[in-house]
Amino acid sequence: MNTSAQEETVQTITTHYIDGALVKSHGREAMNVIRPTDGKVIGRVALGDEEDTRLAIAAAKRAFASFGRTTKEERSRYLRQLHTAVSARIDDLTAVMIEEYGGVARFARLLVESGVNAFAAADKALQELPLRESWGKTTVTLEPVGVAGLITAWNANALFICLKLASAIAAGCTVVLKPSEFSSLQTRVMVEALNAAELPKGVFNVVTGLGTVVGAELVRNPDVAKISFTGSVAVGEAIMRDAAATMKRVTLELGGKSPTILLDDAALDKAIPTALTLAFLNSGQACAAGTRLLVPKSRLDEVKRAIRDEMRAFTVGNPADPNTMVGPMVSQKQYERVESYIRKGIEEGAEVLVGGEGHPKGLEAGYFVKPTVFVNVKNDMTIAQEEIFGPVLCVIAYDAEEEAIRIANDSKYGLHSAVLGSDIVRARRVAFQLRAGRVVINNMTDDPQAPWGGFKYSGVGREYGKYGIEAFLEPKAILE
Ligand code: NAD
Repeated sequence: MNTSAQEETVQTITTHYIDGALVKSHGREAMNVIRPTDGKVIGRVALGDEEDTRLAIAAAKRAFASFGRTTKEERSRYLRQLHTAVSARIDDLTAVMIEEYGGVARFARLLVESGVNAFAAADKALQELPLRESWGKTTVTLEPVGVAGLITAWNANALFICLKLASAIAAGCTVVLKPSEFSSLQTRVMVEALNAAELPKGVFNVVTGLGTVVGAELVRNPDVAKISFTGSVAVGEAIMRDAAATMKRVTLELGGKSPTILLDDAALDKAIPTALTLAFLNSGQACAAGTRLLVPKSRLDEVKRAIRDEMRAFTVGNPADPNTMVGPMVSQKQYERVESYIRKGIEEGAEVLVGGEGHPKGLEAGYFVKPTVFVNVKNDMTIAQEEIFGPVLCVIAYDAEEEAIRIANDSKYGLHSAVLGSDIVRARRVAFQLRAGRVVINNMTDDPQAPWGGFKYSGVGREYGKYGIEAFLEPKAILE
């Protein structure tokens, strides 16, 4: 490609959003933004440093002095303003998610819309949450915890930002947001949208940069009272450990290795498309992805045939094409990670039913992998235990319902799971025995008032609805 043509398309971001204005980055380092469909540089973004972060924290601290005392009605008004402002940018947010991240059009839009809905959902939850209760001579109030640091992952930038911000605003907290450095173009559109909501200065601040610099300062700084984090277990562990030094409250939304239990009475014409949609959600780059499909041995051959047939619909390619089901991986590193797990699966003796190593034919330029289904997988294999974060499904056979439940729970994770079966009473009985923060029955469905979060290594605390707001509140009792 000729250099001048390339330069024309490169967007440069040199500012952070601090105290209601775009402020030149003090941090001098910068990084390229690479388009995952072809590996080309499409942007260059300044990386904030500790000084940028401290400025943002100071702005949030100043704003908290009055924002922390706002009434429910005022917060509700701000949430409505945010909802209106971000709603107006749904098309732009979807387009930039497809371009920068490679999110497939059909799913990217849903994620952005869920982000927008988070403001309305938080408003509803706030109305129903009593912030003051009294009995006898006792009064209990729920007070905002203080300045919150919001640190987010790259796989659903708009959703994470809106969700965390909505809960924090509903609680009366001011925030400093550090989105993933791999979502900088998406974050810029979001900043423009949020700015249009005209919240008081300093209520939300956004510093783009590296986790080890900007994120670490948020975790370390004594003026930050709470960290709400979405990302990997390794970083979550470091945050929990380092946050202890300043006794911060932490919410950690971490990884998963979610099981989908196919019961022996499941109707395969519905169950297999559902299981595959769960597995390849967001091109497999989803914390909730149902990457372990547990199948009764009595129906294994039938299931394999149904998967082979149905996989024809799971086309890989241009994420902007509304028919595409699986887009590229976010980066070269993520491409290599997924490939290494596919290799590992083969080495450990699992059998490739569909997909396998290497780029799909005709898609050699970007970070595309083949959606892959392994059969003959044992639950103790690496591919069944570790989070791959790509479109790789492990089919694991079981004999009886109790064994399926045992295998499902035999994981360090416990974020999400699914049960597919015709007898709803039986499906519910199984669901109640799963150790996961959320269980869906017969479909990938959502309820923005229901808690989201994990058991075990999948995290600490919950988001969404009243649970999400409570995570930014401190109970205080006044006794006369
Ligand atoms: P990551 O942990 O590498 O990064 C997440 C964020 O943490 C980024 O903003 C990063 O810059 C920052 N960070 C990195 N090091 C830091 C440090 N030392 N201190 C503070 N912040 C730091 O995760 P990722 O690769 O962006 O996202 C993928 C992971 O996120 C997967 O494990 C996935 O399961 C998980 N995830 C979980 C949920 C959920 O709701 N449970 C949702 C989406 C993704």
